[in-house]
Amino acid sequence: MDSLWSVIAPVLPWLIPIVLLSAVISFPMLGRGPTSSKRDPWRGYKYGARSTVIERAGGRCEGAQFFAWGRCFAAAAEVDHVFPHSKGGPTVVSNGQALCKDHNRRKRDMTPPWWYVLALEKRRRSYFPAGHDVRVFAWMDDEEAALRDRSGRRAR
Ligand SMILES: [Zn+2]
Repeated sequence: MDSLWSVIAPVLPWLIPIVLLSAVISFPMLGRGPTSSKRDPWRGYKYGARSTVIERAGGRCEGAQFFAWGRCFAAAAEVDHVFPHSKGGPTVVSNGQALCKDHNRRKRDMTPPWWYVLALEKRRRSYFPAGHDVRVFAWMDDEEAALRDRSGRRAR
């Protein structure tokens, strides 16, 4: 034990801050994520839910450029689940973001940390049309269900 401690002790002063910092950086956004891990039978965005997400982004990718400050210049190619579908994120407008192919590929099924969500919402304030909530919510409520129904087709 003594010899193990003698190996660990010298690195602790910088190991502890690194562990703490990585925990803070990867911490999820509280109060916005899915309340269950049950998967929405709608796997992908379609119909009115898809077009609403792309239209409110002006057809442009909502991904970050220059770390979190700027906005990607590419055209939107996909609608991504901010909170991943595989982890219970529903296929609803408030959980959707328009991304280019490159940003979509890089995000994969990552659960977004708090700063990712806040930065997205901050960017959105400059381009979302009036009447659209910039906040991300991974919940299915009556209003979201109605947005999917408006297409005239129902979820399976
Ligand atoms: Zn992009």
